[in-house]
Amino acid sequence: MATSVKFLNKPIAEVKPTAVVPDFEQLPKTADTIKCPACGLIQPAAIVETRPEPTFLHTCAKCGQVIDKDLWHSVL
Ligand SMILES: [Zn+2]
Repeated sequence: MATSVKFLNKPIAEVKPTAVVPDFEQLPKTADTIKCPACGLIQPAAIVETRPEPTFLHTCAKCGQVIDKDLWHSVL
C-alpha cells in the first residue's frame, strides 16, 4: 500500500501550452479597408496580428463572401 503514484506528481511545467489561441478577440488588430471580390463592396476589415503571419479573414457585410489572404484587396 506504500507504492506512490508517480505519474500524478509531474511538475506543472511539463504541461505544454496549447497551440490554439483561446481568445481570438484579444489579439491586436490592424484596421484595413478592402474591396469584396464578389460584389465590389468597399468595407472596413481587420487584419489580426497573429504569429508567424497575420491572419486575413473577413466575411463580406453585403454578400457573405469569405475573404481570406488570397482574396484580400486593400483599397487604402
Ligand atoms: Zn461582397
